[in-house]
Amino acid sequence: MNEPDILQDNSLNPVNTQTWVNGRHVVRCVKVVQETHDVKTFCFMSQTPIMFFFKPGQFVTLELNIGGEQVMRSYTISSSPSVPYSFSITVKRQKHGLVSNWLHDNLRVDDEMAVHGPIGNFNCIDFPTDKALFLSGGVGITPVMSMTRWWYDTNSAVDMKFIHSSQTPKDIIFLKELELMSSRIDNFDLSIICERYDIGESWHGYRGFLTQQLLELIAPDVLQREVYCCGPEPYMKAVREMLGNLDYDMSRYHEESFGETPPDAIEDAEESAELAHIAEETPQPGFCVEFIDEACQ
Ligand SMILES: Cc1cc2nc3c(=O)[nH]c(=O)nc-3n(C[C@H](O)[C@H](O)[C@H](O)COP(=O)(O)OP(=O)(O)OC[C@H]3O[C@@H](n4cnc5c(N)ncnc54)[C@H](O)[C@@H]3O)c2cc1C
Repeated sequence: MNEPDILQDNSLNPVNTQTWVNGRHVVRCVKVVQETHDVKTFCFMSQTPIMFFFKPGQFVTLELNIGGEQVMRSYTISSSPSVPYSFSITVKRQKHGLVSNWLHDNLRVDDEMAVHGPIGNFNCIDFPTDKALFLSGGVGITPVMSMTRWWYDTNSAVDMKFIHSSQTPKDIIFLKELELMSSRIDNFDLSIICERYDIGESWHGYRGFLTQQLLELIAPDVLQREVYCCGPEPYMKAVREMLGNLDYDMSRYHEESFGETPPDAIEDAEESAELAHIAEETPQPGFCVEFIDEACQ
């Protein structure tokens, strides 16, 4: 009897699958998930099987053409490299925002686009710990969700405390998955704080903003923890002040700002877009596909 043909070109096979390196990659949208009323997750794969290894917390920069203009925006990889055959970004619609609304309204399964990366210093591989405190606000949950998924999926012994602030209960991203994780392992402790709840909604958790009192109540051992923080700038400023008041060792504090695409990422993306342009015009060796352009040069 013939062996089953499991090594077809497009089969998912950890032995013959290439790995992801920082550069320009063309990916295909394979799934769109509506997370909340204004947040969607977009999942991507490549045409040739690629293992999307990256450091949990890192981001990619999308290269899009909207209305004839090239636009670049960075999005954290919200999935975990423990599930390496695809990766996801989770995008919140911004009022009047060009790219976030375009993605929500236009990006469909099977659409292709170029992404640059992965890149980013805010990650839990370069700053490992055995006691983590994740502090996130709104869509700033994406990098700490990737770190949590990573430590959860790899059965790590890291003691994780996760404090997420949301505007209202209906805005909580990944709620069910977070609750599932906290119900299954005892080294993951989840607290959610809702600023308010709207008429018709009920909420039995913490209410208001994260305060120093609340932080000390939920994480009395905060001084022993490595802190990973991501959220709106006023939120992160408040967190830094709280930690400063507690004489926290700020060398153990790590944050990601969504405010501006870091200049490094833009330079890297522009450079690799240019390289990709040159590569498109130059015949490549047969086995060297888009994902390993840089590695082959
Ligand atoms: C490292 C990094 C990681 C990130 N990760 C994520 C992530 O995981 N998920 C996520 O959702 N975002 C993330 N972001 C933010 C993301 O890159 C974009 O900045 C965000 O989606 C808004 O882009 P946009 O094109 O929709 O808005 P833009 O068009 O850039 O506009 C930004 C803001 O300007 C204002 N504005 C623009 N035009 C007008 C106008 N005509 N009138 C009034 N106000 C206006 C709006 O308030 C708008 O929200 C990340 C950013 C960085 C740097």
